[in-house]
Amino acid sequence: MIQDQFKRPLRDLRISVTDRCNFRCTYCMPAEIFGEGYKFLPRDEILSFEEIERLTRIIVRAGAVKLRLTGGEPLVRQDIETLVAMLAEIDGVEDLAMTTNAYFLPQKAQALKDAGLQRVTISLDSLDEDVFQRMNGRRSSVQKVLDGIAAAEQAGFDPIKINTVVQRGVNDHTVVDLARFCKDHGYIVRFIEYMDVGTMNGWRMDDVVPADELVARIDAELPLEPIGKNYRGEVARRYRFRNGGGEIGLITSVTRPFCGACTRLRLSPEGQIFTCLFAGQGTDLRAPLRSGASDEELEQILRGTWHARNDRYSEERSELTEPRTEKVQMYHIGG
Ligand code: SF4
Repeated sequence: MIQDQFKRPLRDLRISVTDRCNFRCTYCMPAEIFGEGYKFLPRDEILSFEEIERLTRIIVRAGAVKLRLTGGEPLVRQDIETLVAMLAEIDGVEDLAMTTNAYFLPQKAQALKDAGLQRVTISLDSLDEDVFQRMNGRRSSVQKVLDGIAAAEQAGFDPIKINTVVQRGVNDHTVVDLARFCKDHGYIVRFIEYMDVGTMNGWRMDDVVPADELVARIDAELPLEPIGKNYRGEVARRYRFRNGGGEIGLITSVTRPFCGACTRLRLSPEGQIFTCLFAGQGTDLRAPLRSGASDEELEQILRGTWHARNDRYSEERSELTEPRTEKVQMYHIGG
């Protein structure tokens, strides 16, 4: 088991299988930047399924037990269920999950389940049609996502988790409705404090709705009580509805950072590993991989990178005199 400079073990691997997405969410891939002519990574620069599987096997051997497939949007990568089946075969993997915008789930949910995917987390920022469309660059209706959720339920994914990024003055006035909807349907919604991921979303602290304020708003209509974490290092702060069961979660990277227990490594589509969501630089594994490095040599690079890790950006954010200008983009490594 390898540890970093703060004795944090490597437990979670987020695998970004593509830098492409069919949505244009304003806080991740704003349409005015990622227009028709935007050049995404050419096919041959993206890791093949075999390369992803080999690197994942090495990273699991070094301690990772939880895998999450992300993107961009993972379901725009063709035959993604084939990769799921390959990763599900790896000894030591305890949890295999995916974060998706659900748009293609009606076509893919059953195949993913059959291939061995254990959990899905679905991004849905609002039930209000106009608000949702403004946030995703008018690329999808709410109903399209609800159809995807229904397909995931049909395929047997349970519980369904929902991720919602909350921005003040954009969708914060619709969070109580979403909480009620998820409570009524048995979904677990995670409200995510709007973060300064990447360098293209024009983030301002004024646009952040602190988790405590969100809890107070929801509690006023749907009484809540705090409950403990499911496991050490779990990111979400959890609350149970007092009446009728069900729970919500808050991801508080801005107001209550959780870097101290962060055990996450990220693999980008072109084979770089990043030790933090807000990292400026990654470590390239593709070049040695494609120039014949052995598993042991690749593992040495991985171990050296993790051992040297001292990231705690969210804890440092408020102390920074100048905003960090070099940060990997969110669509490139998945949230
Ligand atoms: S800011 Fe970086 S170190 Fe802190 S929790 Fe997020 S990914 Fe982990």
